[in-house]
Amino acid sequence: MQYWNFSAGPAVLPKSVLEQAAAEMLDWHGSGMSVMEMSHRGAEFTQICDEAEADLRTLLGVSDDYAVMFMQGGASAENAIVPMNLIARNPSNSADYVLTGSWSVKSHKEAQRYGTIRIAAASDGEKQIDGVTYQPWSWVPPLDSWRVQADASYLHYCSNETIGGVEIADMPDMQALGAPDVPLVLDASSHFLSRPLDVSRTGMVYAGAQKNAGPAGVTMVIVRRDMLGHALACCPSAFDYVNVAKDRSRYNTPPSYGIYICGLVFKWLLQLGGLAEIERQNLAKSQALYAQIDSSDFYANPIQPAFRSRMNVPFTLASDALTAQFLKEATQHRLLALKGHKSVGGVRASIYNAMPMEGVTTLIDFMKEFERTHG
Ligand code: PMP
Repeated sequence: MQYWNFSAGPAVLPKSVLEQAAAEMLDWHGSGMSVMEMSHRGAEFTQICDEAEADLRTLLGVSDDYAVMFMQGGASAENAIVPMNLIARNPSNSADYVLTGSWSVKSHKEAQRYGTIRIAAASDGEKQIDGVTYQPWSWVPPLDSWRVQADASYLHYCSNETIGGVEIADMPDMQALGAPDVPLVLDASSHFLSRPLDVSRTGMVYAGAQKNAGPAGVTMVIVRRDMLGHALACCPSAFDYVNVAKDRSRYNTPPSYGIYICGLVFKWLLQLGGLAEIERQNLAKSQALYAQIDSSDFYANPIQPAFRSRMNVPFTLASDALTAQFLKEATQHRLLALKGHKSVGGVRASIYNAMPMEGVTTLIDFMKEFERTHG
């Protein structure tokens, strides 16, 4: 029976990866052990972990100037771990944050415990753009309007707001903003590995694995090595990037099974043709879905078109009752987890890397049929 899982995360994984993991569950490559049962310091897991790191570097083209680490605590813990590691790299002990939705607001709130945190830009009010009024968190302050202080230790933003469905694919020109030495720190959790990303233009990128890369429990952290070595005294040793980088993600016991699955996903992506190919697929899927939403007055997407997310596509129907009916019938059609986040309501289709075009066209066909019968 074919089900299509539109969950925002933990989310759909490539079927071939799950099948391989199932086949290798009891005995990994003749080792006589499941990956879950291996020492994280043994030869087998060392190979698995180092290969995962190498494949992630290949996918993104990450140079050795950057540490690539698999950590724990999710992106929420990074909201604290980032300032604990980076805020003291400048004597100002300050950082600038851009607020574009729930997740960047959370990051900003948490960081305040560790230094002076300023707001560089925020989409927290209504905004008129080209004659259209956008609601708070449905638009993005123009990247050339962000107010960044030259002495900030970093500039943080969320490059894909999973709840709002707002994606910032371009990066600000820090030279033009008058802050050429301020490194960018991106929470890329929900669009990581969905498209090429020029890591060399950032100071740091982090992402929870549970959308495009693997199971929950692994946080991927990529950080420029020259930014390290300024951790606050309160930073736990296991969260000090210097320690974790030095021990290649094995300072303490890492989420080893999760890293193994991430490694299989990285190989799946490489075999597919890398990030350029997955971007092509993601573009086709998201364009098809937005075209369906835009083609009728029955469905609406509230986001400023230039910043619509390719990964998380929220849309609304005329009433709560109609939305509830839509979700009920969708589940009957084996279209799962389409309920919008409780803070915004409506419907949200998360169409991550492992969601094939066939899943998206099945959803589109259902949307057409639902409009015919309830419109
Ligand atoms: N940032 C973004 C963009 C997210 O989508 C999420 C989770 N949905 C988080 C942070 C928090 O991640 P976690 O629950 O793994 O801490």
